[in-house]
Amino acid sequence: MSECIHCEIHDVLESRLEAEDANIAEIAAKVTEVLADIILMVPPADRGMLIADILANLGQFVLEKNEEAMEQAGAGPRRLGH
Ligand SMILES: [Zn+2]
Repeated sequence: MSECIHCEIHDVLESRLEAEDANIAEIAAKVTEVLADIILMVPPADRGMLIADILANLGQFVLEKNEEAMEQAGAGPRRLGH
């Protein structure tokens, strides 16, 4: 079992994402639903800032991981991790 929650989630989703008929949008929606559950765990007054934080992180991760993928282009497929 990994110590990183991000890697643990990847392990759980791996077989679903690699399935031939994988519905990526549906899987992403389920992962997003977890974020909704987490947002509702904080007091209503804190939800706006948490949502802003989640969106900022999402943009940052996409940009960083895309850059990593570009740098590794040509080196063969490899899953981006930590
Ligand atoms: Zn990780």
